[in-house]
Amino acid sequence: MEFHPRRWVRQAGGVSLPEPSRRDTRLDSYVDAYAERTHGLQVSAVRALFAVANRPEVVSLAGGMPNITDLPREALAKAVDRLITDRGTQAMQYGSGQGEPFMRDRIVEVMAEEDVHAHADDVVVTCGSQQALDLVTRVFCDPGDVVLAEGPSYVGALGTFHAYQCEVVHIGMDDEGIDPVALRVALVSLRAAGRRVKFLYTIPNFQNPTGVTQTLRRRHEVIAIAREYDLLIVEDNPYGLLTLDAEPLPALRSLDADHVLYLGSFSKIFAPGFRVGWALAPHAVREKLVLTQEAATLCPPVFSQFAIATYLDEFDWRAQIDVFRGMYRERRDAMMSGLTQHMPEGTTWTHPTGGFFVWVTLPEGLDSQAMLPRAVNARVAYTTGTAFYADGLGSRNMRLSFCFPTPERILEGTRRLGEVMEQELQLHRTFGLGSEPLRHHDLTAGPAPDIS
Ligand code: PMP
Repeated sequence: MEFHPRRWVRQAGGVSLPEPSRRDTRLDSYVDAYAERTHGLQVSAVRALFAVANRPEVVSLAGGMPNITDLPREALAKAVDRLITDRGTQAMQYGSGQGEPFMRDRIVEVMAEEDVHAHADDVVVTCGSQQALDLVTRVFCDPGDVVLAEGPSYVGALGTFHAYQCEVVHIGMDDEGIDPVALRVALVSLRAAGRRVKFLYTIPNFQNPTGVTQTLRRRHEVIAIAREYDLLIVEDNPYGLLTLDAEPLPALRSLDADHVLYLGSFSKIFAPGFRVGWALAPHAVREKLVLTQEAATLCPPVFSQFAIATYLDEFDWRAQIDVFRGMYRERRDAMMSGLTQHMPEGTTWTHPTGGFFVWVTLPEGLDSQAMLPRAVNARVAYTTGTAFYADGLGSRNMRLSFCFPTPERILEGTRRLGEVMEQELQLHRTFGLGSEPLRHHDLTAGPAPDIS
């Protein structure tokens, strides 16, 4: 038996104590004690990737971290310093479960930029829009309920729906967004089968993971279906103000206030570390969200709300969004030109007009999951398409993000990726291995999305 001497660690009072030994985690004595809902918890594919993709030699086109290096950090530091000195006793105190009134007023102003007009009373501040997703699911969903979502959809939302034991039924997309015919068919057949469909979760602007924007015509069609079938729509809109080519399209919430529960966030237009997002809900729902928020956290982070209000009041945040747009536009353009230069024949991709992501469909025979270790070996990372489906589809897809690396790194990343794909295709030609043919609508096959 090997002998491992224990390390001694010096404590604050000068006394040394043995370092606590790491507990063996292979045997879980609580295995029978966990609630059934924990069985649906899955490690996010994105999280598992972060560890590898964060190595400096790897060009990571995998994560979706906003690039906040352009924020005026020194001036912000001074403003936060003054905040603590002048108003620290309030800013570092507990606050309202619904969020601070001044924060909700500012959120109403931010939403007006996208033509969403609301009263501050109907806003609930949350710990990022991720928590809003959690609260909404907790308020509406019992185990076995159905949530409709675009296929593919945001991995973090799928994780939340699974955590509450919902069944996610994907609705196909094309380059105009969610397919209204498929939505209607799914609703009718699920209801006929006695299933409880709780809401449609959709990301109409620069969708994560596809980058596709729902056209205005589609928005009207989706709203018409919601009215006809009395369906609640959860509209998740963290990227809406990050338009790169044109004015934003009207939010679903601006077309119908009764059927749409709207989620927003400061993560992409300011900084994600403050963890402030919000839900704008029909009146009765708002009350339930507040009670659930109080049960979860007592109140959303008060200091963050003070800091964000300070930023909105003292800085030209609209001009800052323009700075972000310019930076992301340059990166999106680098991604588009890298893909055009380096992707092998048979590859297609979306043409995002905003946001962070592009969705790639690989040539027949390639499998993004099988290829990933070889890609990382070639020092480029992406997120496999299967992460964005609840039903195992997506093996011929990958999500590439252009938000974080510099344009030069993006070009280099696509070059490395192109090489790996060529090698895979060579292997496929020699041995005939690879993915199944596409079993879903290839939403990258058409022309660039129409955003009119
Ligand atoms: N929704 C979508 C579509 C997202 O892409 C993200 C973050 N990547 C979130 C919600 C969560 O954002 P946050 O909690 O930072 O507001």
